[in-house]
Amino acid sequence: AKLSTNEIRQKYLSFFESKGHLRLPSHSTVAPDPTTLFTVAGMQPFKPQFLGGAATFPGIEGEHRRITTAQKCVRLGDIENVGRTRRHLSLFEMLGNFSFGDYFKKEAIEWAWELLTSEAWFALDKSKLYVTIYKDDDEAFGYWTALGVDPSHIIRFDADENFWPADAPAKGPNGPCGPCSEIYYDRGPEFGDDTWEDYKETRESARFLEIWNLVFPQFDRQDGGVLADLPFKNIDTGMGLERMASILQDVFDFYSTDTFRPIIDRVSELSGKAYEGEKSVSHRVIAEHLRSVTMVLADGTLPSNTGRGYVLRKVLRRAIRHAYLLGFREPVLYTLVPLVVQAMGDAYPELKQEESRIQSVMKTEEVRFLQTVAAGIERLDHLLSVLSEGDTLNGQEAFTLYDTYGFPLDLTIEIAEEKGIKVDQEGFEVAFKEQQERARAASKMGKQELFGAVAEVLDEVAREHGATEFVGYDTTESH
Ligand code: ATP
Ligand code: MG
Ligand code: MG
Ligand code: MG
Repeated sequence: AKLSTNEIRQKYLSFFESKGHLRLPSHSTVAPDPTTLFTVAGMQPFKPQFLGGAATFPGIEGEHRRITTAQKCVRLGDIENVGRTRRHLSLFEMLGNFSFGDYFKKEAIEWAWELLTSEAWFALDKSKLYVTIYKDDDEAFGYWTALGVDPSHIIRFDADENFWPADAPAKGPNGPCGPCSEIYYDRGPEFGDDTWEDYKETRESARFLEIWNLVFPQFDRQDGGVLADLPFKNIDTGMGLERMASILQDVFDFYSTDTFRPIIDRVSELSGKAYEGEKSVSHRVIAEHLRSVTMVLADGTLPSNTGRGYVLRKVLRRAIRHAYLLGFREPVLYTLVPLVVQAMGDAYPELKQEESRIQSVMKTEEVRFLQTVAAGIERLDHLLSVLSEGDTLNGQEAFTLYDTYGFPLDLTIEIAEEKGIKVDQEGFEVAFKEQQERARAASKMGKQELFGAVAEVLDEVAREHGATEFVGYDTTESH
């Protein structure tokens, strides 16, 4: 029988409990420190312990140098990837085992191999596993080959790939960091015709899926990129639960796993539009965004025009837009919340506790945004009524719709297309950039005052949602 997502999570945590780890609950999606808006990795709540602080935890007796968790993570940078790559979700669970100055590289590598390949655990085919290591990490190379990994399955990469966080040595953030070793699973030629050798050059593959990152944090990055030795050597690992589920359930991608499929099926049922795999972008975006929005709402973030709430609103609106594209004209996403609770509520009881509140906030947002859309459509119909099939809608007009009515460009394109009318997207871009320049000039707050990584993502957000809202961003919210 195939393992369910809940069973995979459970097995991972039990395995590390059997190796003397204490299981702790997930931290909230609200980041524990100001380097990010949302929690992005399993290690993030443990920075104090990695930096040499006491290995003690609120409400728990004694010292614990071995911890295991399933951490819910939200990666803003990956939101743009949802639907574009097959391997990214905006919300995912990172399964992790951590050592604070206790065991190090040898055990981390040996246990990872045991969990992945032993018949009693995940029983993956050894010949389908591949690893990357940091360029001069001969120690890691030695441990992998001692386990029987063929040297041809091992690639050495520089800091761009095999140092975590990836930007740490060059750009930041400050804090614990170190070289890492990543484990990949070969999904087979049906997924892509590239080879592992190609991966050295491309660093991007549909066939070789990264499943687990073993990080060896031994440095504290300080201002100016200085890497100071930490008081002791640590282990920080992160396995992508949903990626593992798609492998162990032997399905094409996330959307056919037990977590997403019921949501997709309900969307098909309610919309009357069958799910056709990768072609059904709207089904997929709805299922994916619904899950992250539900979890972020459960953790107390509310839709707003600044900071975290702004990102939440953006993601939710994108899902509403896709529901609209599927033909829904009334709020519908909030009715799907129980499916998320059903899938994840045992592992995350906050979902059950907050279910009705989540639904009512979501419904309110849906009603509001659908009103915006309705007003935009009225205006758009008027604009289209004076054009004929084969004409092009002026880019400035499309931008005005977007800017003053909050009406998304993809809907404009979709609706115009139905009448055989094109939209001047270049003109839209020009108008967009002009507006952005004006907003920048008007803003007293320069980009450099914002937190680097957050600023980049919010720029992306601004690109999609209009620069005017961006100006409202309040730096204090990320600190
Ligand atoms: P990728 O290179 O595929 O973007 P990553 O190297 O950024 O992944 P890590 O920071 O090493 O990812 O995170 C540890 C693990 O978490 C990854 O090996 C992967 O299994 C999982 N993971 C990372 N990002 C995502 C995501 N956006 N959606 C689903 N799983 C993810
Ligand atoms: Mg990534
Ligand atoms: Mg990677
Ligand atoms: Mg990685």
